[in-house]
Amino acid sequence: MIRFRPSLLLLAAAPALLLSGCGESVASSDAPAAGSPAAALAPPTPGPDGKVRLTAAEWRARLTPAQFHILREAGTERAGSGAYWRTDGKVGVYHCAACDLALFDSTSKFDSGTGWPSFTGPIAADRIINKVDTTYGMVRTENVCSRCESHLGHSFEDGPPPTGLRYCMNSLSLRFVPATPPAAPETGSK
Ligand SMILES: [Zn+2]
Repeated sequence: MIRFRPSLLLLAAAPALLLSGCGESVASSDAPAAGSPAAALAPPTPGPDGKVRLTAAEWRARLTPAQFHILREAGTERAGSGAYWRTDGKVGVYHCAACDLALFDSTSKFDSGTGWPSFTGPIAADRIINKVDTTYGMVRTENVCSRCESHLGHSFEDGPPPTGLRYCMNSLSLRFVPATPPAAPETGSK
């Protein structure tokens, strides 16, 4: 069990944050792994309009059950359970875990104290579609991938500069691609 040290933001707005965090429909989380179905398949090919449209069965074949629940059923991973919520200083780009569209640069990532990876904004406005989410008695802004319309998380107007926005994402909706890959992978190792 991980407990979070409340940030000033949390102290100032604890009740609001409890409501406005990502979580309510909590999924059991499994960290993205090399052996996940998504890692085994090439990214889906967009149609002529640039969109990716797959059936639920096709998504299930590509995603782990927890990823499917979050990305395709608008679920939420448990706070502090994902691979990316910590501030790790890693430089790179966070892609959509479903279709591989580049969504967030690591320079926009910040420590929100929520247990979910948080960003001030996407790489470009057209990477994300905002939808009004009225579930759980709240009015929230849901963020979905503009290419495959998979659920990523929610955004809130309590973020730091320069945007004042907090994109509260699920780690399981993202795949981190380091700017400088570690060592060149060995070829022919299998
Ligand atoms: Zn996508």
